[in-house]
Amino acid sequence: MYKTSTQLLKLNNKNFNRYIEYASSVVYNGGTVAFPTETVYGLGANALEHSAVSKIFEAKGRPADNPLIVHISSKEDISKIALEIPDQAHKLIDLFWPGPLTLIMKRKRIVPDITTGGLDTVAIRMPANKIAISLLKNSGCPIAAPSANLSGKPSPTTAQHVLKDLNGKIDIIIDGGDVTIGLESTVLDLTSSYPTILRPGDISYNDLCAHLDRVEVGYNNNAEESKIVKSPGLKYKHYSPKSHVILALLTSTIEKHAEKIVQLQKENKEKKKKVGLLLMEETSQHIKSYYHLNNSFSLGKNAIDAGKALFRGLRYFDDNNFDIIIVDGNINNEGIGVAVLNRLRKAADEIL
Ligand code: AMP
Ligand code: MG
Repeated sequence: MYKTSTQLLKLNNKNFNRYIEYASSVVYNGGTVAFPTETVYGLGANALEHSAVSKIFEAKGRPADNPLIVHISSKEDISKIALEIPDQAHKLIDLFWPGPLTLIMKRKRIVPDITTGGLDTVAIRMPANKIAISLLKNSGCPIAAPSANLSGKPSPTTAQHVLKDLNGKIDIIIDGGDVTIGLESTVLDLTSSYPTILRPGDISYNDLCAHLDRVEVGYNNNAEESKIVKSPGLKYKHYSPKSHVILALLTSTIEKHAEKIVQLQKENKEKKKKVGLLLMEETSQHIKSYYHLNNSFSLGKNAIDAGKALFRGLRYFDDNNFDIIIVDGNINNEGIGVAVLNRLRKAADEIL
């Protein structure tokens, strides 16, 4: 097992260049560096070096057939790793990069098998985050970076989350504060007959449809159970804390929904369980008694807020050894709400 002492570098204006140069030299020399992006914190290593990338899989405990996203700092870098750039890619890149859209294209052989999980395609993204871009530019290589959590756990949205999961297993964590989006990028496959969304994210189905003739949806909320999966990552359990997660979907009126959550909380408390609630503001306004709002964490007013708060909330209750987390599914299934509900379904042990 690769063991190291992990350095936490807290960036400020004064140390920015010095710390970025140092972290970049660690990447260049085959080490591992966790860094913020606009989506979640990533765990990066030189994407073109087998031994560097193997440290990512080892630190996370990630299955070897689950490929990594390769991050680049300029649009021109695509041609270094992709065999051919489809016409649609040019359009999408001009519209959405830098940003939370990962594009899958045919790979060049320079990208080692370990990075792509043995596939002949490669996932590529240019992040919209100054720290990530500076690290990429200074290290001079494409950086493979999955989310910087232990495999199966909720993705990290702060440097403290990364430290909790990976301390002693990676070389550096760059603390650049909270991320802005809080959910992983949209993954779009451009190697199928039609562009296919393999993972929903901040760039939504409608955003893509506005610029493409046809967009397919290739993820399925029960993909863990399906045998054939296009994106290897889809078949693994995800975003799941130790606690038992119950997703309470909005199936009737808001009043009945609030009552359902209170009832679930009551039943579990009677069984002497420590119960936490992740609640949308609208729902908590329908829970009249403060008693029931004890141990509740707000997911905010809308799906954008929920995206930012979700993983932090799951981690909060997990770190504090709650047995049960009841999550409010009162989120519109549109825009980023699709991605929030997708992550919630994957995190949930029970959906009611
Ligand atoms: P992560 O970076 O941990 O959030 O996961 C990256 C996601 O992208 C996983 O779901 C992978 O399975 C998916 N992915 C990466 N590369 C490819 C590829 N070449 N083909 C299909 N899916 C991919
Ligand atoms: Mg991940």
